Amino acid sequence: MISPDTPVVRWAPSPTGRIHLGNARPALLNWFYARRHGGRYILRMDDTDLARSTRESADSIEVDLAWLGITPDLLVRQSERTSLYDAAVKRLIAAGRLYPCYETEDELDRRRARARALNKPPIYDRAALKLTDEDRARLEAEGRKPHWRFKLAGRPVHFDDLIKGAQTVNTASMSDPVLVREDGSYLYTLPSVVDDIDLGITHVIRGEDHVSNTGTQIEIFEALGGPVPTFGHHNLLTDAQGQGFSKRLGSQSIADLRDAGYEPMAVAIMGSITGTSLPIEPYETLDEIANRLDFTMISHGPARFDPVELDSLNARLLHALPYEGAAARLSSLGLEGEAMWLLLRANLAKFNDIVDLAKLVTGPIEPVIADEDRDFLALAKAMLPPEPWDETTWSHWTNALKDTTGRKGKALFLPLRLALTGRHDGPELKSLLPLVGRKACLARLP
Ligand code: GLU
Repeated sequence: MISPDTPVVRWAPSPTGRIHLGNARPALLNWFYARRHGGRYILRMDDTDLARSTRESADSIEVDLAWLGITPDLLVRQSERTSLYDAAVKRLIAAGRLYPCYETEDELDRRRARARALNKPPIYDRAALKLTDEDRARLEAEGRKPHWRFKLAGRPVHFDDLIKGAQTVNTASMSDPVLVREDGSYLYTLPSVVDDIDLGITHVIRGEDHVSNTGTQIEIFEALGGPVPTFGHHNLLTDAQGQGFSKRLGSQSIADLRDAGYEPMAVAIMGSITGTSLPIEPYETLDEIANRLDFTMISHGPARFDPVELDSLNARLLHALPYEGAAARLSSLGLEGEAMWLLLRANLAKFNDIVDLAKLVTGPIEPVIADEDRDFLALAKAMLPPEPWDETTWSHWTNALKDTTGRKGKALFLPLRLALTGRHDGPELKSLLPLVGRKACLARLP
């Protein structure tokens, strides 16, 4: 049983392409709000734009959301809810708040240009309100079909934004918004309000590009008998250059980031915590963030995404990942072994780097042997201690080599590392040696 105090939030993407980090931000912030307050989370596909929405995109959004760790309580598609919007249209017409207009785009453009030339705001002049029944009949006989505008009250609309504080949007400076297109299809505004009422949405959390829509929407909520939800408008994520993310500009999508091997938590943390006063840290779960991120911590300036930080966060998450969190993924790569994982994880930038790193243990590796080190390495081979090996074997061996040859520092250690691993850097040899074992070490030395 859901208590009346239970928040109900929705994330309402338009399924017109792959979602990117900027889209993931409201998806995550809504999720945090729901988790923090024991609420419900609805995924609403805003797919009334039939020309641009696709089922394929909607399906990919579900996949991306699940990958980020979000499991909605309910999925609804606006394309399946048209009868609700039709009913709302009837009520708004009956209440005198929705009226038919017959202007073409060209006519409207010309009117706007004229208004600008006269230094007037280019808002719709409501000429259609003056049409008589005969005018309308004549226009329809000409083959024109109406689009429908909502008649704004034209007043300062106040609301207390969860994130931005007290806000006022004056609908007097706005054109009456078109709610229904000429072909009968719905623009975003009306279906959004109708669904928010029907689904019992208590909190509308979305990007601050929607603040000005909120004035109109509050008027529509009220015209339909409400209730008006609480609004929270968050700052928008920009890319490293300060540009907004955009599907149309082909900004890197969540799927691209997944394919590039980033951890879902790294993407989720960057998408949500950037532009807040919560430090970017390798949080292990979304709930951990939900518990810490109070919406007052969301900054009012833009949230600039830093790809370098994504890389370093991704690495930090992997370096702290316990074996239990890695085992299933390792086994899907044909790998296993806690000691191997604990040793190698500190060298990972992406999880799949483990495939190459594991070769340091299992082989094959290609030893790098400089001619001038050949004799030294042959001696090292001869002096390799007998098994059993542990973490002290390395220092026993290298101390003995130091005493015998007088080599020290880099001259002592680097040739050994290059021969045993084929690389200049990598995991600590004292830990690697026992995992590799004596037989394999002998084979790597000349
Ligand atoms: N489909 C709208 C968008 O993607 C939803 C905005 C809202 O949350 O109301 O911008």
